[in-house]
Amino acid sequence: AQLILDLENTIENIPDFPKPGIQFKDITPIFLNPKLYEDVIADLANFSRGKVDAVCGIESRGYLFGIAVAVALEVPFVLIRKAGKLPPPFVGVKYDLEYGSAEIEMRTGQIKPGQRILIHDDLLATGGTTEAAARLVEKQGATVSQFSFLIGLQDLHGEERLRQFDADVYTILDYK
Ligand code: IMP
Repeated sequence: AQLILDLENTIENIPDFPKPGIQFKDITPIFLNPKLYEDVIADLANFSRGKVDAVCGIESRGYLFGIAVAVALEVPFVLIRKAGKLPPPFVGVKYDLEYGSAEIEMRTGQIKPGQRILIHDDLLATGGTTEAAARLVEKQGATVSQFSFLIGLQDLHGEERLRQFDADVYTILDYK
């Protein structure tokens, strides 16, 4: 479809950033093109319309699209932040990285037990960050119904990792 072509032509591939061997996908040129940004939001909103009660966005690029999707759907938007930035009360989940560990947090009570949640981020790689976000949502008694991303890096098998949650996964554009 046209949206996929437009994104392919807009997202920049930066080889060897931030480490040798990594092909970094830079989404920032999307924001130079308001019409393309609108099309991305419409596409993501279309995937989730009528299916979720709230949107959770993952810091920080997950906010750039997630909040606009939530507004389009007329549902609440909840920030998932890296540890140490939110005032109490908050809930957290620790998760393992390639080297060491990390923690993400959310304000307590911003999502409600039983709600159907969309977790959104810009890019799905190994799925480690997103899996932690889903655990955080479940810890508060809500259900992860959907995951959406602009980009999926197929070789890193994030989608398989997210299968445990029994939720729909949508990526607009996939790279090998
Ligand atoms: P994962 O946890 O391995 O799936 O990594 C996904 C997280 O890393 C997301 O929050 C992305 O924003 C970030 N990320 C990983 N690779 C890239 C990239 O090539 N471009 C932009 N963000 C990336």
